[in-house]
Amino acid sequence: MIPIDQMTIEQLEAAVRACTLCRLHEGRTVAVPGEGPAQVEIMFIGEGPGFHEDRQGRPFVGAAGQFLEELLAGVGMTRQQVYITNVIKCRPPGNRDPLPDELAACAPYLDRQIELIRPKIIVTLGRYSMYRYFPGQSVSRVHGQAKRVGDALVVAMFHPAAALHQPKWRPVVEADFKKLPALIAEAGRQAPDQPPPPKAQQLSLF
Ligand code: URA
Repeated sequence: MIPIDQMTIEQLEAAVRACTLCRLHEGRTVAVPGEGPAQVEIMFIGEGPGFHEDRQGRPFVGAAGQFLEELLAGVGMTRQQVYITNVIKCRPPGNRDPLPDELAACAPYLDRQIELIRPKIIVTLGRYSMYRYFPGQSVSRVHGQAKRVGDALVVAMFHPAAALHQPKWRPVVEADFKKLPALIAEAGRQAPDQPPPPKAQQLSLF
């Protein structure tokens, strides 16, 4: 068995599909590793697969995914130009929140995806992916702000599902997405000035 931190993206996706590291494998239809080209500027990190994602093995294919595609179109992008994944690769029963041990079990996969894809921009969608980079914060406080972490600029945004459930967040999400082109330009200009947080520290957040 190849250690996760030495896997290629193809090996990682296969490992996620066969993963039994936490209880979530018991209830899944299929796991959802993530998808996108190997070389992208932007990576989106959501929470975890929902009903449709669990059936299809692809991230963000339900209503939230449709809205994500609309938001991307608003800045002239398609989902084929970005990498999309989640903190949790298997659907929690009844779409409950992921538990700390499930997040910890799945974290090495996401760490390795980020290492391999090396995005310029990481967009966290919702609180679970935000916690990796903005511990103890709330999305309503830090959304739209960029923070350099290693080689990437990390931007926290509301989960598209939040805007679907609470229409007052919709213009906020749209305004945050409109910042992406400027952030891509900024990410290209700035040199890294801060090392990535140690992985152990990321895990201890949960
Ligand atoms: N919500 C998420 O956080 N991720 C998905 O893949 C789908 C819905």
